[in-house]
Amino acid sequence: MDERVGGPAVTGDRLGFDLITMGRIGADLYPLTTGVPLAEADTFGRFLGGSPANVAVAAARLGRRTAVVTRTGADPFGGYLRTELRRLGVDDRWVSEVRGLPTPLTFCEIFPPDRFPLYFYRVPKAPDLEIEAEELDLEAVRAARVFWMTGTGLSEEPSRSATLAALEARARARTTVFDLDWRPMLWREKPEAHYARALALATVAVGNQEECEIATGVSEPYAAARALLAAGVELAVVKRGPDGVLAVHRDGTVVDVPPVPVEVVNGLGAGDAFGGALCHGLLAGWDLERTVRFANAAGAIVATRLACSTAMPFPDEVEEVLGRAGGV
Ligand code: AMP
Repeated sequence: MDERVGGPAVTGDRLGFDLITMGRIGADLYPLTTGVPLAEADTFGRFLGGSPANVAVAAARLGRRTAVVTRTGADPFGGYLRTELRRLGVDDRWVSEVRGLPTPLTFCEIFPPDRFPLYFYRVPKAPDLEIEAEELDLEAVRAARVFWMTGTGLSEEPSRSATLAALEARARARTTVFDLDWRPMLWREKPEAHYARALALATVAVGNQEECEIATGVSEPYAAARALLAAGVELAVVKRGPDGVLAVHRDGTVVDVPPVPVEVVNGLGAGDAFGGALCHGLLAGWDLERTVRFANAAGAIVATRLACSTAMPFPDEVEEVLGRAGGV
């Protein structure tokens, strides 16, 4: 068991972040026994969860200075999440509390290798959907070297307007990532127009094939990547789970990497590990192939582990897997 926790110190200049993520947060309660239906599970582990929070943790593990913009309930789980963010190396200065709404909980079922249903408890409304544009530190959002937002942040107001305000403040400068993150159970209206608006303001789009289809209407990976570029981004990354990753850049670079073969324990969290590692590679200025291979390996590592946030790999772990896989 790796005892390292990781991440740079959680203090310092608000304008000096490598990565700021924005959106969902919650406590994950995952059964400690795999292959067991939720109705029969009786021991659970408690983890920091929520995709943008996990992406920030993943990048912190790789040595990046990260922060998350989100909201929790004014309750014990909210306190736990802030403490856990800091412990995992993520700055929590932009995590605020919403009175009267409980911190969301997420349960899952773990049926390896490819079935991991999620059960979100975000009622009556998740505090992270109460992020207001007025509370954003737009100067800091603008100054971050990478900004990361998700589709779920567009699902309801006031979070939608806040997310778009952050994107507009970025004005497509530097790297602005739209994680297509399609969670249909969290939407009450049609997403297409909101996705199109955000795509026009982002420079990178990341999603699996289903998410690409929601964003563009097509799911075939090459067609989806081309459609994402046509919608406005410079780099389209199509995650294909156990089939690897396709990345296409507007400059014509195409990278199509096979998966790193692993024995899957829990596929949840792989996408967030991938996301944090993608940010790391983009920040490092690596070429697209190295960046995608590194992210692909980080995702595969987390797929072999039960947890998500606490399972994010350190650089040496990713390099070791790349070395074994004959990576770049
Ligand atoms: P996902 O969000 O499930 O598509 O996973 C994100 C990324 O993690 C994928 O694009 C792969 O790079 C990696 N990954 C996920 N699942 C697996 C798996 N079963 N085997 C190898 N790599 C995986």
